[in-house]
Amino acid sequence: MPGDVLFYLGGAKLFYQKEIETMSRKDIEDLQLRKLRWMVDYCYNNVPFYHERLGQAGITSGGKIKTLSDIQYIPCTTKDDIRDNYPFGLLAVPMKKIVRIHASSGTTGKPTVGAYTQEDLDVWSDLVARVAVAGGATEDDIFQISFGYGLFTGALGLHYGLEKIGATVIPASSGNTNKQLMMFRDFGVTGLVATPSYALYLGEMVRESGFPMSAYKLRLGLLGSEGCTNSMRTQIERSLNIFVTDNYGMTELTGPGVAGECELRQGLHFAEDHFLPEIIDKDTMEQKGPGEPGELVVTTLSRYGMPVLRYRTKDITSITYEPCACGRTHARMQKVMGRTDDMLIIKGVNVFPSQIESALVGMEGVGPHYQLVVRRRNFLDNLEVKVELLNADLLESYGALETLQRKIHDRLKSVLGLDTRVTLAEPKSLERFQGKAKRVLDLRNEPEEK
Ligand code: ZN
Repeated sequence: MPGDVLFYLGGAKLFYQKEIETMSRKDIEDLQLRKLRWMVDYCYNNVPFYHERLGQAGITSGGKIKTLSDIQYIPCTTKDDIRDNYPFGLLAVPMKKIVRIHASSGTTGKPTVGAYTQEDLDVWSDLVARVAVAGGATEDDIFQISFGYGLFTGALGLHYGLEKIGATVIPASSGNTNKQLMMFRDFGVTGLVATPSYALYLGEMVRESGFPMSAYKLRLGLLGSEGCTNSMRTQIERSLNIFVTDNYGMTELTGPGVAGECELRQGLHFAEDHFLPEIIDKDTMEQKGPGEPGELVVTTLSRYGMPVLRYRTKDITSITYEPCACGRTHARMQKVMGRTDDMLIIKGVNVFPSQIESALVGMEGVGPHYQLVVRRRNFLDNLEVKVELLNADLLESYGALETLQRKIHDRLKSVLGLDTRVTLAEPKSLERFQGKAKRVLDLRNEPEEK
């Protein structure tokens, strides 16, 4: 294993880079300020886009940054800025220094590109290794990576990070579920990397595989690339008999490994030596205090190929700087509550799909699969929540169906403060997802149904 040592501190408390992960808050902030100043100089001198933006803001050198909070005077970078400079306009190095390109598929238009130097890839693997070890992975584990490979950062990111800690990696990619289960059994797979939605589906298939649970040696899940409520996580853990941790990242910032949960699962530890996170009000752009929810904005502190200053992630969360009982001192962000652009505004009420998911999962008689359909009728929005039944027998009794429907309606009303139309679907009738789930169908711009 190159360079780093795994520290065993009693029980299962593990660190990948203990000295960095347990630095004092003062040392972290000193390091961040030093790196931020360097980063401003680096961007100003090497990226024409930032030269212009920083120049307009009067920040023509890193020396203008006196304290960490001065970061608020640096203009934010948005996804549109990255798209406008597609594909390589934001590179800070000549193309020959770039050794890898990734891209995230956007729902519209051109993909968002990430370009990496060799140093960037080395740091990235370390970051993923930290998250993997924090989530309980060791060199004895055999990990099946059931993320789709390709331009997407998830699969190769976890792949290199897990190899770095000495775990065995099976690049299964997504799809072909029977083969996934066969490899689980035949290769003695102990760890799964997948999206929560795919893990949920694999769990269903494991139950139906006809093999006893003892045929599966799974124990850990490093899930990511989409949100996962605690209740859905519990469901995944039960069905696959694994312990699940969540990790966070995006192509614009590197990929997975920007933040990740430790085994205590009290928030995701940010890799603060490589990233400077802030929470802002998405409308006024003002910085929020610790614990206050808002939009996450992140500055890369050591990315050479494609550095980014104050990237607006559109993810809504909050950050705490209290040290964690695991020993790590790096700030923790709460699970992402939703994305500013996933937020549905229905009859003036803000609704996040994750709120509906939390309300549904764990309710008796219904499964974790759901779909939201938003329509506009007579100029009024209405939200239909399609929920899948666990047991087809219920379809035989109109009375029981009606009772369940009312129960779900009332529960959603108390969580959302909104009347919804609840429809119950037959077991296994709603779509299953192998990548990121698409659970919202917004038909408000379609012609009205007659
Ligand atoms: Zn912790």
